Amino acid sequence: ARLGAGAEPGARRLTVLAGPTAVGKGTVAAYVREHFPEIGHSVSVTTRAPRPGEVHGTHYYFVDDETFDRMLAADELLEWATVHNSYRYGTPRGPVVEAGRRGESILLEIDLQGARQVRASMPEARLVFLAPPSWDELVNRLVGRGTEGEEERARRLETAKVELAAADEFDAVIVNDEVPRAAGRLVELIREG
Ligand code: 5GP
Repeated sequence: ARLGAGAEPGARRLTVLAGPTAVGKGTVAAYVREHFPEIGHSVSVTTRAPRPGEVHGTHYYFVDDETFDRMLAADELLEWATVHNSYRYGTPRGPVVEAGRRGESILLEIDLQGARQVRASMPEARLVFLAPPSWDELVNRLVGRGTEGEEERARRLETAKVELAAADEFDAVIVNDEVPRAAGRLVELIREG
């Protein structure tokens, strides 16, 4: 049996995409969502406020702290983390388990702490690390995105430095040199089953 005792059903079909801040995980995941609709996506819950253009239920479920606490207490989250020392993010357990039961692939785009929790609770999950072509490129992307203030940017770079060292904990590393190429490689891995 490939699934160990206590493993969640469907673990084989779960792929986790993680990597340092601003490496482009969100962009690669969005590309996969648009071009490969057969691959399911988990929608996370978060306590942060929506950015302009973000839609509740599509990009995230935006919830308050009380709701997040209630979901945690009810064991509704497969994994969760406080990201960049500020807001909480988590993966609703139900859709992941249901996708597994139906034999469908599902992709999680989460931070490194969350990836480690999935590894612990679902050892059969595939962990994919998205790496920047270089450190300078990562800094450029973080500055260029312009969505964070200077303090928040410094905090995220600190996190990224630590996260870059974690690549060897993963089953595969994909360099995000071009989004369509990186997304294509990710889909190949998912299709391998
Ligand atoms: P953002 O606020 O820019 O949308 O996301 C910030 C970070 O939170 C990203 O690194 C993203 O991967 C991570 N994140 C998003 N959803 C989840 C989740 O459900 N769980 C965990 N652990 N991290 C998440």
